[in-house]
Amino acid sequence: MFRVGAHVSISGGVEKAVEREMEIGGNCGQIFVGSPRGWAVGSPGSSSVEKFRKMSSQNGIGPWIVHSTYLINLATPKEDLGKKSKKAMQKEIDLTSRLGIPYYVFHPGAHTGAGIETGINNISKRLSGLDIPDDVKVLLENTAGKGTTLGKTFSELRRIIEGSDYGYRSLGVCLDTCHMYAAGYGFGTEESLRGLLDELDDEIGIENLHYLHINDSKYSFSSQKDEHEHIGEGKIGEESFRLFINHSKLRNKPMVVETPVDEKGFRWNIKKLKELRN
Ligand SMILES: [Zn+2]
Ligand SMILES: [Zn+2]
Repeated sequence: MFRVGAHVSISGGVEKAVEREMEIGGNCGQIFVGSPRGWAVGSPGSSSVEKFRKMSSQNGIGPWIVHSTYLINLATPKEDLGKKSKKAMQKEIDLTSRLGIPYYVFHPGAHTGAGIETGINNISKRLSGLDIPDDVKVLLENTAGKGTTLGKTFSELRRIIEGSDYGYRSLGVCLDTCHMYAAGYGFGTEESLRGLLDELDDEIGIENLHYLHINDSKYSFSSQKDEHEHIGEGKIGEESFRLFINHSKLRNKPMVVETPVDEKGFRWNIKKLKELRN
């Protein structure tokens, strides 16, 4: 079954996300559980949590994934920011578990001059210090690689995961097509896609890829710039997405779009992906 949805808002109560997902034609989805550009983590009441769980299961909506706040940086050499990031992540992960959501995704962070090695060690160490419940997988998202951000290559993601006490038992990856393209991973031909998946399999293992962010890119290949575009209307293009979402190693992974919020909306993008699906 094609699992495809979008990032939806929880304003008015987390249970509203289920309705919003259904309205745009999605059957899985992503949410923030706090303010994406702040440190505050929501604390929904038990009736709201119960409604979310019940409406999701009754309507067959899932798996859901929680996206972390953008402020966290586990790679930072600054102890106070590292501590604050860990604390916020722990709260978000606990809430993810309470909501019955199996996945939580975060950006590995930026080393801000401390060096790649130090940055990777910081992330691994801080991940080891988290208390990850058995029913949640914490996923690292690949990045476009701008500045000192980490996680632009599969190798960096692997090193972070292998350096943590949790390893693949509680950790995994979520790949974003726009970020891969901007970081220099092309998938416009069967051959390039095969190369990409071979590298992924060698480094991380396809079974440790749990979720996909499907976005086109406003900027060109290897630009290291992260700006999303509607599916088929950016530099990646429709045919690349057709190859990508139908590949036997990817077609059973849940996918969400994080395309621009304008008059086209998520409904248009979900419909486009369904049209491209074989
Ligand atoms: Zn993200
Ligand atoms: Zn992005």
